[in-house]
Amino acid sequence: MTQSFQKVHALTGMKDVLPDSSAQWESLEAVVREWLAAYGYRNMRTPVLEHTRLFTRGIGEVTDIVEKEMYSFTDALNNEHLTMRPEFTAGMVRATIEHNILYDRPQRVYAMGPVFRHEKPQRGRYRQFHQIDVEALGFAGPDIDAELIVMLGRLWKRLGLSDIRLELNSLGQADERAAHRQALIQYLEQHKDVLDEEARRRMYTNPLRVLDTKNPAMQDMADQAPRLFDFLGEASLAHFQGVCERLQDAGIEYRLNPRLVRGLDYYNLTVFEWVTDRLGAQGTVCGGGRYDGLIELLGGKPAPAVGFAIGVERLLDLWSQGAEQPAAPECQVYMIHQGGQAQRLASTLAESLRDAGLRVIVHAGSSGFKSQFKRADASGALVAVILGDDELASQAASVKWLRGQAASDQPQQETIPLDRLVTELKLKV
Ligand code: ATP
Ligand code: MG
Repeated sequence: MTQSFQKVHALTGMKDVLPDSSAQWESLEAVVREWLAAYGYRNMRTPVLEHTRLFTRGIGEVTDIVEKEMYSFTDALNNEHLTMRPEFTAGMVRATIEHNILYDRPQRVYAMGPVFRHEKPQRGRYRQFHQIDVEALGFAGPDIDAELIVMLGRLWKRLGLSDIRLELNSLGQADERAAHRQALIQYLEQHKDVLDEEARRRMYTNPLRVLDTKNPAMQDMADQAPRLFDFLGEASLAHFQGVCERLQDAGIEYRLNPRLVRGLDYYNLTVFEWVTDRLGAQGTVCGGGRYDGLIELLGGKPAPAVGFAIGVERLLDLWSQGAEQPAAPECQVYMIHQGGQAQRLASTLAESLRDAGLRVIVHAGSSGFKSQFKRADASGALVAVILGDDELASQAASVKWLRGQAASDQPQQETIPLDRLVTELKLKV
């Protein structure tokens, strides 16, 4: 008796990227690697799974992420509390400390890959999504904050994105935040009647986040609340000024948004977001800022740091609104054959063509010429190489150009002696 198998689907909020759309991912990744290399950033890869306490400490107990979005579980095999990374920074910092890579100089590093947050799926919001994460570790000055922002401006330009704007704020230092916090809690207590349930819950644990509310009924209250920016001392203001001046030098426009805070607890001084109106409600493409206290908080020797994360799905969504990305062809040369001997010759020739740097598919199995031609066409190949009895007898391949011929005076179909096939195709494809 055969047992029926209940079909398995992907998890809610976790998307497959199929071959036709992965081309766009790969071109983005290629652009991004080149862009990061241009500024001296080097790749770093950390595990997807980490100890849960890395994130509860490194992101903050009362943040959205730690409160309700983390994929955490107990590993039944050894009873460890583990979490699928909801962001990169904590893991990058852990690795930096663990391998002591800041001992002799600061480091510019980046990572790309999936992160996991248990959120309500909608456009631009998934449970597995991808980030490009960039961190400048061990740098204190406003020059590096500005460098990060300027380099993002360059990426948007390289991708042809307009309609993406920069919002900037300073969160000052711990003592400034403490003074503001006191004033803010007092203010929130006075306006308790307009606070929603979440705000009331948060007003003592994370009052800054109350100002980040999207609830329309709370906007007026939030607009008039004491602004952290007004509590900044001289040094914090000078740092902010330093960032702004450098942005002006680079011709980058920004808007001071005194209500801008970030979803994570550890930020200080510079925070920023790049936002667009073209993605609906999920318009933040990139968020970042300075986090000078985190390395020490996670057990390292104190060192300043600043970084950002780009949401790849949102960026791709925005990018595809500009130029339609054609699906990448499967190969350049498609080998068609008839008969056992021709098939083996096709495989051997294909290896030589690959030696010459060409991308080649050999039709698998045996079928009629017509269906092989159909496959050749669907593969996106530029040229089909045909080997049958006639070709074997004359030791020459029939070559049919399927699309995009290099020169228009080139014949659509030609015969090329087998011993010249590799050289000629290498020249023409
Ligand atoms: P949001 O306010 O949209 O929830 P966030 O402050 O939680 O964003 P960050 O932690 O700063 O986001 O993550 C950096 C970037 O990752 C965001 O600017 C966004 O582009 C992207 N991002 C965040 N959450 C998701 C998600 N669930 N699905 C897809 N992209 C996301
Ligand atoms: Mg979020």
